[in-house]
Parts: sequence; structure tokens; C-alpha cells
Amino acid sequence: MDEISINYKELMDNLFDGVYFVDGTKRIRYWNKAAENITGYKAGEVLGKLCSDSILTLYDDEGRNVCDALCPLEKPVTDSPVREAELYLHHKDGRRIPVAIRITPIRDSEGSIIGALELFSDISSKSATLLRIKELEKLSMTDTLTMLANRRYIQMELESRLQELARFNWPFAILYLDIDHFKAINDTCGHEAGDAVLKTVADTLVACVRPFDLIGRWGGEEFVGIMRNVDEKGLYHIGDRLRQLVEASYVAIDKKKISVTVSAGGTMAKTDDTVEELVKRADELMFKSKAAGRNCLTVSD
Ligand code: GH3
Ligand code: MG
Ligand code: MG
Repeated sequence: MDEISINYKELMDNLFDGVYFVDGTKRIRYWNKAAENITGYKAGEVLGKLCSDSILTLYDDEGRNVCDALCPLEKPVTDSPVREAELYLHHKDGRRIPVAIRITPIRDSEGSIIGALELFSDISSKSATLLRIKELEKLSMTDTLTMLANRRYIQMELESRLQELARFNWPFAILYLDIDHFKAINDTCGHEAGDAVLKTVADTLVACVRPFDLIGRWGGEEFVGIMRNVDEKGLYHIGDRLRQLVEASYVAIDKKKISVTVSAGGTMAKTDDTVEELVKRADELMFKSKAAGRNCLTVSD
């Protein structure tokens, strides 16, 4: 059979992944074309250098140097011989590049480690996509005017809280708040002033609930709060404090102070509630507050 002669160096030079070899003294002995492209360092700049000469310094997500932890020359290989990780390399121009890296120890005929072969690929597009997805997720759950959770997010949260209530009996309550005579603010002061009032009410509500409670914008001039670990008495206490704080805050526009009040309804969640039933019950209680003269809270289960 004809022996096929393979030029391994040429093969490695043309790999899409970066490849380098460090010898037993941790000097870089081989550096392929892809390694040049990914890091910006030409082979001539790195060959013969120590891998600790800040060229190949590897960092994890928290910015920790993990060279020693991963290096087979540093730490005897007792676990799986190939080490894999997603880390950051330095680019010649200073920025960091996310890479997926595989490190394999190279042994002599006696089995002693005489070097390490390392393979790495640029995963920055993957990281950018993941970031973008996170960003989009956040945007799709946030109300852009008030920066509060939007209706979709509130609905998802209520869904989770109802499941917790059914499984673990963790109590929670919901508050429905509607700004009183808000149309009149728009009509007399303008839509922009109306927006500023909405932001102020949102900021007041968010700042004044407990850290584990959630306030979101349900729509228009209506807000919903999800209060965990409360009973009816506690709910009344929190809801009425929010009502008073809104009444006491104002927006200054053209040297004029604009104040609004809210009418609110609050109710404890029941194990057999659906999200729609729960919100509807709080909404109906809010209307009782409107009928009672506004700027008040009605709580009931
Ligand atoms: P009530 O006390 O009965 O709740 O009276 P109201 O005027 O608050 O209620 P109504 O539902 O008649 O009016 C709500 C107004 O809220 C109408 C709408 O134009 C205004 N609005 C809804 N969303 C926004 C917004 O994002 N910005 C501004 N400026 N106004 C909004
Ligand atoms: Mg309304
Ligand atoms: Mg209103």
C-alpha cells in the first residue's frame, strides 16, 4: 500500500482553530496562522517566549487568572487528560477575546509530560449573541416609559407565585392601583407632563415596597404590585402606605407642582385562582375605591 505522506505542520497551519504548543519549560514552540488571526500576535512575536509573558494569560468570567489551574505542566494530570474551558485571551491590541480552549498534555515515551498542545477557537460572536438575547429579554419585559416590569412580566410572575402557592402554600397578595383623574392632567398640563407624573408615581411605588415585592406597570395609568409573605392586614398596611406616599409626592413643571392620588384594590391570592381571576378581583376592588370617592384602598379576599 502506498504510504500517504502527511505534512502535519501544513495541516495545523491551515486549521480554523488556533493551535500552539508549549514545551516543558513553558516556552511557545509552535503557533499557527489561526492563532495569529485570533490574537493579533504573529508567530515571530511569540515563538521562544514563555507562555506567562502575558501573551497567553487566560482569565475566567470573574477576571481570575486561571493559567496555573489549567496548565498540565503546572498541575499533574490526574483527572481527564484533556482540559476544556470557555475563557478569555488577551488580544495584541489589549482587548480580551472569549475563546473555547482545549488543552492536551504531550508525553514522552516514558509517559512524562513534556509539553502541552492547546487548541482555541474565537467564540466572540456566540458571546455577543447571548448578550443580545439577554438584552432583548430585558427589553421585552420592561416598560420603556417607567422602566418598571411590564404587563407580560407581571403575568409571568403571577403565574410563578400561583404555582408556589399551590405547591408550598406560600401566601402572596396583589395590589391594583389606578391614578385618579389622570386624563385631566393630560388635558390641562399636556401629555409630556402626564408622562412625567407617570414616571414619578412609578419611582415612588418602586422605592417604597420591600425588596422582595414587585411593582409593574399594567398599562396606561395603572400599576400592579405583587406582595409576598403578607396577610390581609399587612397588605392593607403596605397598600395604604403606597397610597399616602403617592399623595405626598409631586412633579414640578414650569414652577407648578403637580400632584396626583391613586385608588387601589388589594386581595390575597387563592390556591384555585388563575392570573386573570386574581387581577380582575383586585381591579374590581379598585373600582370600589373609585366609587368611595378615590384616593383610598379597598382590601378583601
Ligand atoms: P379615574 O379617576 O376614573 O381613573 O379617571 P382617569 O382620568 O384617570 O381615567 P381614564 O381612564 O378616563 O383616563 C386615563 C388616561 O390616561 C387616558 C389616557 O390618555 C392616559 N394615558 C394612558 N397612558 C398614558 C401615557 O403613557 N402617557 C400619558 N401622558 N397619558 C396616558
Ligand atoms: Mg385607568
Ligand atoms: Mg385613572
